[in-house]
Amino acid sequence: MKIHALATGAVRVKHSFLFPKSGMRRQLDLFLPGPWSDPLPIHCWAVEHEGRLLLIDSGETAGARNIPFARFELSPEQELPGAMAEAGLSLDEVSEVILTHHHGDHVDGLVHVGAPARIHDAELEFAGQAFPALMRRVLRQPLPPGFAPVPFALDDGPFGAFDRSRRLSLDGRILAVQTPGHTPGHVSVICIDDEGRHVMLAGDVTDTLEQLLSRRADAVGPDPKVHVATLETILAHCRRHPTVYLPSHDPGSAARLAGSVTVD
Ligand SMILES: [Zn+2]
Ligand SMILES: [Zn+2]
Repeated sequence: MKIHALATGAVRVKHSFLFPKSGMRRQLDLFLPGPWSDPLPIHCWAVEHEGRLLLIDSGETAGARNIPFARFELSPEQELPGAMAEAGLSLDEVSEVILTHHHGDHVDGLVHVGAPARIHDAELEFAGQAFPALMRRVLRQPLPPGFAPVPFALDDGPFGAFDRSRRLSLDGRILAVQTPGHTPGHVSVICIDDEGRHVMLAGDVTDTLEQLLSRRADAVGPDPKVHVATLETILAHCRRHPTVYLPSHDPGSAARLAGSVTVD
């Protein structure tokens, strides 16, 4: 198995996005003036295994509009085709795309992919609800043209500390697990590497490893309690299995993947 970190440009987010207050201020502060972070990577991942090439998420595109709490920094050359070429990979070889959740910085790159895409059924249902649809209109963040991923159920039973999972490879070494919080149907993908470590491609479960270890809910999830419960489950999983934890926007993710650095 080989896992590649692909970076499709960067995003700056408001400090209040990374370190939200509790109560009303959690989401309100996103729309008020405030300091901004350094650029954070927009990662997606390519996994070579069993003669197939899986993409986990598809990254952002240069046409993404800034929103009150996120500013995108990427050129057309940094979109998925360029990121894949930099890793020595070709889009023609992609077998399928697994989406962690429906946000633009994870799905917009699908415009470059001919292979089928799949998404957790609960996430597809959430994306179609009135409130997320309204937010996409208000923030001018439409789903990419032709967005029609095939839904899958997490019906392959428990895996490690997770109650529900779905096998994504024949040998069961690549799985989706439920990690609700950032969005209700969010999944993470766990790859069991050749040394038996669990490499967790965590999407936006948290923005950083620090946020996981601090058990801090984010500013955008509908229910902070659900989010914190997921973080506890992930930490329980990390205690059972050596796990390399890789959120999409953590500036440390690529180095932790390269060095197989597990959560203590
Ligand atoms: Zn997201
Ligand atoms: Zn994201």
